[in-house]
Amino acid sequence: MKSIKHVIGGAEVDSADGATFEDIDPYTQEAYATVALGGAREADLAVTAARKAFDEGPWPRMSFEERGKLIHKLADLMDQHNEDLALADTRDMGKPITAAKTKDVPRSALNFRFFADHARLAESQHLPNSAGFHTYVQHAPAGVVSAIAPWNYPLMLETWKVAPALAWGNTVVLKPAEDTPHSAYLLAELALEAGIPEGVLNVVHGFGPGSAGEALTVNPAVDRITFTGESGTGKAIGRAAAANLTPVSFELGGKGCNLVFDDADLDNAVSWAIEAAFGNAGQVCLAGSRLYVQQGVHDEFVERFAAAAAALQLGDPKDPATRIGPLASQEHYRKVTGYLDAEATGHAKVLGGGAAPGWFVRPSIVIDPPAHAPVLREEVFGPVVTVTPFATEDEAVKLANDTPYGLSAMLFTENLHRAHRVAGSMNSGNVWVNCFFVRDLRAPFGGFGDSGIGREGGAFSREFFTEARTITMRIAPEIAAA
Ligand code: NDP
Repeated sequence: MKSIKHVIGGAEVDSADGATFEDIDPYTQEAYATVALGGAREADLAVTAARKAFDEGPWPRMSFEERGKLIHKLADLMDQHNEDLALADTRDMGKPITAAKTKDVPRSALNFRFFADHARLAESQHLPNSAGFHTYVQHAPAGVVSAIAPWNYPLMLETWKVAPALAWGNTVVLKPAEDTPHSAYLLAELALEAGIPEGVLNVVHGFGPGSAGEALTVNPAVDRITFTGESGTGKAIGRAAAANLTPVSFELGGKGCNLVFDDADLDNAVSWAIEAAFGNAGQVCLAGSRLYVQQGVHDEFVERFAAAAAALQLGDPKDPATRIGPLASQEHYRKVTGYLDAEATGHAKVLGGGAAPGWFVRPSIVIDPPAHAPVLREEVFGPVVTVTPFATEDEAVKLANDTPYGLSAMLFTENLHRAHRVAGSMNSGNVWVNCFFVRDLRAPFGGFGDSGIGREGGAFSREFFTEARTITMRIAPEIAAA
């Protein structure tokens, strides 16, 4: 059986006490690898290695060109190992292999290329003034970064953190989610192969509370914590980080809405809505899990949407034709199917859907649940979508914003004025009009309300992963102190 170890200070290591846990393939429901189970000791060792690499090593002192070259080399190696990286995520969490190969892995490599280039080309402020002084701003690497990631887009979300952190000269300790340790381990190995110095990218496996994850949030030698996961976990990490005043960047849960107006292009709306609700088996923070459809097209939309959902192929995620794999773990399967109970749906009618053999859930469409129903209020994180009719634009906006989350919103309309008006009314960090999940890495990404703190992407990542230093110099020698 494959053995997945920590990567600390450039070496593959086991935990000091030899503890391991099993890496379960959710399709076979069997272990296919053993994983080193780290705790506070391994997390602290990794932070020490990252600290040493930052304080004494070449990485933060390299030019952007030198660092960028090594980061580009890593991206090239990721492309060369597309198959291994994709299969790692597929076996860890049931992601369909076609999506892993064509979207997750290429996008992960792009994250490295983009942030290396962005850091190299970024301008910083120069403020000449007429009073004989000159002020300029430096962006110094922040130091050691704890990066704590979820299991739904393992490699892609890990690289979204690791790439800007490295590009700006930081060193990193990455803790992948316990369900998805494999691709992070491969990534650390490829980073070493690319020539990125030891200790710059460390990977520690383990659990969150009381384990490696928590240890990475309380260590005073950590300078930044970047976390993606549930809002409740974000609150716990926020409390831990406050003790050391460690800055945090949080990308948290979501309960995305999707508004389909009477004047929408229905072919377009149905196909994006299907992707938004059921892509990655709905295990997407941005998922369009609350559909609101205007009365004039409601029945036709639901009929077409339900037919398209029923046609999605469930199966072995290693089969290139599979669109929906199993849910990532048994625990998650139980959580998602719980939202299809009569109590959770408020006794609403459910089209299609339900549990299938294995840890599969068929695309499930809950028709017009009552406003208080948990399926409509809480993040389900599975292939379950609610559909609620609405009459007017004002009503649609109110319904869309009636959530503590604020990560994503979508709207479908052919009316230009409405598109801008409604997009600008969404309490949401990301709004897609007539499309979904199109990302420009220069743009800020994050959420309103319970969906997060801060933004990452482009210059926003620089804000988080660097310390700004303002330098003012007297350039007119005749100026003396008053
Ligand atoms: P969790 O919050 O359960 O876990 C995320 C990571 O945090 C895991 O690595 C976990 O470790 C670790 N962790 C848990 N508790 C602590 C702690 N006290 N201290 C430090 N680390 C801890 O989220 P999931 O993995 O279940 O991911 C799903 C969630 O992520 C959903 O809510 C989803 O919306 C959100 N998400 C948000 C995105 C966004 O961009 N806003 C994008 C993708 C997902 P372990 O699992 O090993 O215990």
